[in-house]
Amino acid sequence: MRILVTGGAGYIGSVMVRMLLSRGHEVLVFDDLSRGHRNALPDTPLDVGNLTSLEDITKTCQSFMPEACMHFAAHSLVDESVRDPLKYIRENPVGSLNLIRALCESGCRNLVFSSTCAVYGIPEKVPITEDEKTTPINPYGVSKLLVENALVELAKRDVLKFVSLRYFNAAGADVENDLGEDHNPETHLIPRVIKAALGIEPEAVIYGDDYPTKDGTCIRDYIHVSDLCEAHILALEHILKGGDSIFLNLGNGNGFSVREVIDAVRRASGVDFPVRVDRRREGDPPILVASAQKTRTVLGWKPILTHIDQIVESAWIWHSRHPHGYGD
Ligand code: UDP
Repeated sequence: MRILVTGGAGYIGSVMVRMLLSRGHEVLVFDDLSRGHRNALPDTPLDVGNLTSLEDITKTCQSFMPEACMHFAAHSLVDESVRDPLKYIRENPVGSLNLIRALCESGCRNLVFSSTCAVYGIPEKVPITEDEKTTPINPYGVSKLLVENALVELAKRDVLKFVSLRYFNAAGADVENDLGEDHNPETHLIPRVIKAALGIEPEAVIYGDDYPTKDGTCIRDYIHVSDLCEAHILALEHILKGGDSIFLNLGNGNGFSVREVIDAVRRASGVDFPVRVDRRREGDPPILVASAQKTRTVLGWKPILTHIDQIVESAWIWHSRHPHGYGD
């Protein structure tokens, strides 16, 4: 099948591209390379462009004529969204709406959308189910919710079919295919702590230890990037089989605190390193843990690398082999 992957040069997108190619699909990546890496895509066709340009994405869709799209391209950093809300609120929805228009004009109506648990804000119930209220507490979550709301209306009017996957914390590396997480600057917990273990950073930093959690640090649900990508394949099959347009959580249902993640990096690396407690990072809910029961039931999804040690170890292997990331 011809599948357009926006943001396919990024961390999750590049693992997805490799998986799609290994299953025999024809893939075209659309990426502006602002955060993605050409080196993560050996030999994969790539159109360099930005989704905020309707012209760029229309040209791509008209020449490739995709049958389905997996849409990863977006700004996705909570703290950046707090500092620059307009960038998120404008560019994430505008990019997605341009993409949808270009897809529809080329006759493609099947979309797997990368959403986020940030749409829930501070949940009333944990683990979080998909019917939890959506009241985001940061502009990133708002920007993804705006797109989700548009998708609901468009699906209702038969413009397209979608699965919106609400990611919890994607982590780990595709060790087999040598693909990992390389952001500049790096803001995510696991790679940042690994950089402290590698001596690239002087210390690991905990953003707040006064949250109402067991050890005072934030709790998140870490999901291995390969399990996450496998869910995208199943989500696409769901739409193609005539399944309903739907929102699904992607997490493991296990929460780990920042301190527990730091301990897992110590175990994986065998290195002790300094840890400093800093103030809270704005926009961070204390606890985000998924119920992925619906995803398992609807898609038949069975994540494999569910233990925090497996997730952290794969990240450790990739970072220790690539201390400077993709080097581009
Ligand atoms: N965090 C931390 N130190 C860091 C990076 C992140 O304490 O160097 C915390 C952050 O405040 C959050 C959790 O780790 O509670 C996960 O953050 P990350 O940026 O990895 O993912 P997010 O939950 O923002 O998507």
